[in-house]
Amino acid sequence: MIRFTKITASIGPNCEDKTTLTKMIKAGVNVCRLNFSHDTGEVQGAKIDIIRNISQELKIPVAVMVDVQGPKHRIGNFETENHYPLKIGQKFILDSDPTPGNETRVFLPDEDVMKSLNIGDRVLLNDGKIELKVDSVFDDKIETTVVRGDEIWSRRGFNLPDTDINTEILTAKDKADLEYAITKNPDYVALSFVQRAEDIEFVRDFINARTSHPIKIIAKIERPNAVERIIDIANAADAIMIARGDLAVELPFEQVPAVSRQIIRECRKLNRPVIMATQMLSSMVHSEFPTRAEISDVANAAYLRTDSAMTSEETTIGDNPVNVIATMDKILSYSDSDAIENPYDWSRIDNIPENDWSRSVSSMAYLNKAVAIVVFARDTDTTIQIACRRPDIPIIAVCGQDYVANQLNLVRGVFPVCDSYLFGQRDAFNSVRQFGIGIGKLVIVDDDKISLRTMD
Ligand code: PEP
Repeated sequence: MIRFTKITASIGPNCEDKTTLTKMIKAGVNVCRLNFSHDTGEVQGAKIDIIRNISQELKIPVAVMVDVQGPKHRIGNFETENHYPLKIGQKFILDSDPTPGNETRVFLPDEDVMKSLNIGDRVLLNDGKIELKVDSVFDDKIETTVVRGDEIWSRRGFNLPDTDINTEILTAKDKADLEYAITKNPDYVALSFVQRAEDIEFVRDFINARTSHPIKIIAKIERPNAVERIIDIANAADAIMIARGDLAVELPFEQVPAVSRQIIRECRKLNRPVIMATQMLSSMVHSEFPTRAEISDVANAAYLRTDSAMTSEETTIGDNPVNVIATMDKILSYSDSDAIENPYDWSRIDNIPENDWSRSVSSMAYLNKAVAIVVFARDTDTTIQIACRRPDIPIIAVCGQDYVANQLNLVRGVFPVCDSYLFGQRDAFNSVRQFGIGIGKLVIVDDDKISLRTMD
């Protein structure tokens, strides 16, 4: 059974040592995600060195994703460490006074947020357990009514599902983290709380001003306004992450599966890989086995032909991160095979024009019962475009450069082989033999030349 859906693993305290990381990569990790919300650039940079080192030792491509914290908003401190109850119907004020808060008010440190809020907007605190509705807006305070109550305490994060926040996508911390991370040539930079295509363009300029290394940008979709602008954002970005944690706070949670399907569909049309993230195997933080619902969630990522499923706390702080990866690998491999053996007619929903060249490659492979597509990959574009047609046979990407192989490792059904000799010789047969394919027809793509050859 060959696994088409890739595994992105969040790396944290319980899996950042070389021994555990090596076992996880052997068990199937394709992309390592370093979450910069939890550490500074330099601490994370050391982990990038370890991952590169393992990848070279094992001769397995591994993509490195630097996930920057982004503008996560928090309220200020309270007078005591106590929890303060907020009751339905009571008034509560968010203001520009930095003195500690009490049961009637608290400091709102972010001036951009204060300026962006409008009457009627919701402020969701504590993962949405508390809902405030904005009654009035002044230069120095926002008056609200509590619509859903719970306890509140110092430095709680909040979400603003109705508000277009007029703030820069990179905070001072993000800029410092990125400055350092860029020196380590990561394959991907993931941006939190993207709201518009301009956010991506801003960060691309920031990166391009500091390096000529072709770092790709992943837009994390976690706000309703980003869902509304998904086409513009996906066009501006190189890949998309469905960040279901914040998304399920900012949207009614029952909408998240439908929105996920919509995002996957749009991104396939636009040739943008998609990562399904958050709580995929979260019971495995402590449990040896996943819940039945988690098994279905991971399988669903395969059936939806997502590019990658992601682990979060289950690997960063889980009891057995290697077991988590082995479990995800097992579920995805089985479901990928089943999806291929019992196909659904995806061509009906992807709206790719009949004469699109990448669709022709996929059709040629299908009509000739090819066993693999071989792409000689100077860069990532051609391979990604073919992969987004979901041909359901392995795409062997023969790369002359490490970063091309690493970046393609995120993409569904793509098996990169980084070998400058095979790439230079345009040796398709020996390239596919590395994956145990020794017989059958190959569709070979070399720049704009497409050919069919038979191995026997
Ligand atoms: C999420 O919100 O689902 C997510 C992946 O983002 P983060 O882990 O950065 O909060």
